[in-house]
Amino acid sequence: MKYIFGAVNSRRFGASLGIDLSPDFKQCNFDCLYCELDKAKPVSKMIDEPNPEDIVEEVKEYLKKHNYPDVITITANGEPTLYSQLNKLIELLNSLKGKSKLLILTNGSTIHREDIQEALLKLDMVKVSLDAVSEKIFKKVDRPIQNISVKNVIDGLIEFRKKFKGELIIEILVVKNVNDTEENMLELRDVLRLIKPDRVDLGTVDRPPAYRVEPVSDEKLLELGEFLKDFNLNILFRRNLDFSNLNLEEDEILEILKRRPLSIDDLTELTDSITKEKILDRVYKNELKLVNVGGRDYILNR
Ligand code: SF4
Repeated sequence: MKYIFGAVNSRRFGASLGIDLSPDFKQCNFDCLYCELDKAKPVSKMIDEPNPEDIVEEVKEYLKKHNYPDVITITANGEPTLYSQLNKLIELLNSLKGKSKLLILTNGSTIHREDIQEALLKLDMVKVSLDAVSEKIFKKVDRPIQNISVKNVIDGLIEFRKKFKGELIIEILVVKNVNDTEENMLELRDVLRLIKPDRVDLGTVDRPPAYRVEPVSDEKLLELGEFLKDFNLNILFRRNLDFSNLNLEEDEILEILKRRPLSIDDLTELTDSITKEKILDRVYKNELKLVNVGGRDYILNR
């Protein structure tokens, strides 16, 4: 399977089957400090795009053998809304998703565009990142390609929310000494009041980041969360795990590792002890890398 991965059990969304629209390399119009992928020059469009029918074939194959997941998540090694056939893909997935919900994870850079809004309106859930309100902090954290302004993101979100009947989730990721100020939180609170999301996720750097940046502590997250307590707030403490007891096979773990680092704890949750040992053996043989972030070891496939 080239484009799908999982399903992994996410605390926030349940069993999630992932669709990666850019499996071979990163294609994003941001280059966030905290990105779990390697740093890369931002691009304004995808130069390598999958055929939507190929993705749908993989999803069909998966659904023949497994239960319908809680969500089918459209994502990418990069920004999925740069995919020129997104609307067609969403329509195809909607025709086969059964009781699964369709979700996209986006950085919000294109949400002001009418064509993107039209496509996203067909989804059940949309999760958008929003780390700052001031252009200066936005550029520092998210390092967008030229001509992207956070004002457009916010205006687009306000407009989109008025039309979108599904679940809109805003994710704020806090980087120590960059966007962890009271002022930033107050500004975010004010725009969130206009956006009216169904849920706000507040987290910090967790997996090994693209740049040398640090997470804030759980205590600091709680403190910052106080500014957002009017919302349906979900604080993503670093000690929490994303997954639970899925008994994945070695090749399935390797597929996930291509897309995101896993902590040793994640590995314990995701698989049995034999497969865990096989993965750790690859670490000892230097086929996979081990790095420490904020006191926690992560396995990387880069
Ligand atoms: S975190 Fe997401 S939006 Fe930011 S650079 Fe990485 S892929 Fe792009």
